[in-house]
Amino acid sequence: MRNALFLLTFLVALPFPAVADVAVQGVRLWEGPDGTRIVFDLSAPVTHKVFTLENPDRVVVDLADASLAANVSMPAAGGKVAQIRSAPRDGNDLRVVFDLTAKLKPKSFLVKPEGQYGHRLVLDLEGEAKEAAAPLRSAPTPDSPRELLVAIDAGHGGEDPGALGRNGTREKDVVLKIARELARQIDAEPGMRAVLIRDGDYFLKLADRREKARKARADMFISVHADGFHDPRPQGASVYALSTRGATSEAARILAERENASDLVGGVSLADKDDLLASVLVDLSQTATLSASLNVGAHVLDAISTVTKVHQRRVQQAGFMVLKSPDVPSILVETGFISNPQEERKLKDPAYHRELASSVVAGLRAYFYDNPPPGTLIAAWQGRGGAAPREHAVRRGETLSGIARQYKVSLQTLRQVNGKSDDSLRVGETLFIPVGS
Ligand SMILES: [Zn+2]
Repeated sequence: MRNALFLLTFLVALPFPAVADVAVQGVRLWEGPDGTRIVFDLSAPVTHKVFTLENPDRVVVDLADASLAANVSMPAAGGKVAQIRSAPRDGNDLRVVFDLTAKLKPKSFLVKPEGQYGHRLVLDLEGEAKEAAAPLRSAPTPDSPRELLVAIDAGHGGEDPGALGRNGTREKDVVLKIARELARQIDAEPGMRAVLIRDGDYFLKLADRREKARKARADMFISVHADGFHDPRPQGASVYALSTRGATSEAARILAERENASDLVGGVSLADKDDLLASVLVDLSQTATLSASLNVGAHVLDAISTVTKVHQRRVQQAGFMVLKSPDVPSILVETGFISNPQEERKLKDPAYHRELASSVVAGLRAYFYDNPPPGTLIAAWQGRGGAAPREHAVRRGETLSGIARQYKVSLQTLRQVNGKSDDSLRVGETLFIPVGS
């Protein structure tokens, strides 16, 4: 005990430890919807201090015994950060000052080396009171059936590029494009609506992705990825669901491990320890959701196989963190191998994005017209007519009200289902006709 006390006194009395300088080898800034993340790349872990100043609002970071490496400059300002300045301080230290346009709360933590990154210091600047996001759709009432809500999660982002193609294509970029195209097509589909979980180049924790979908009360969660492998030969798309008891194959297990490493690559605070509790709760209500996930996954995989090669003929299962929602059926779609040069080209092609998205929508349609969640428009259509909405190609001389009469549908429903704000029509335009309305 006395020895320990002596040691403590000794340590406190010491000035900054006389170790080699820490070189700051890069500084990056990511602007996200919940705040700004600044990442310092370091040659070694650093002792640091963060504090705020007012009038004007600033956040100051002091890095002990550190200096900027040659030709490293501060990133451009972004979001509520107006300017970033740095200067040596007290001989050995580095001070970095963030001039802000609003009061922000700093949070900082060190991250150990992972993937392509070495030691990092992460600084998160968050707005004061984060408004609780309003639910994106209202609670179902029997009188007003709602649209089916599909949450689309573009994998990786910001600090975490995901898998890399031989020609430099980054998974985080192509999957965001595919996710946006998928959202566009789902929004155009009668009775369905999409919400993008990531809609920009920023990092989101895996647990936060699930939570965003649950808070929005999504009926379905689709995580969009592109596979990577050291061998350029493997190719084809695959669909995955969660497994709570081991993976269906060694390859699925390895893939899940790689996708789960996203949190480490993206820089997750070691203070996030609530995942263990969450995973216990998850197991309680997982079974029903899992069978729905497998079922919808099989329909999606079937539909995808009509537009591209598939890597596996069956829905694979492994312990993907991002799929662990207890109550939202969740699948992960690997849209192709970015490590295969031919598929890398395809993954960048907007025509492939459109084909792939439309096949995923076809898969969703096939599943949800058989299994419509209660309270949705699709459930209402199925309940009354027992058939999916038909399509009608508009001919010369037809009017919206005439078509409504022809199918015994109210004009208002016809407008709503087809997303029309007025009654104008184009010859050749395809209208969706809800059956039995
Ligand atoms: Zn991925």
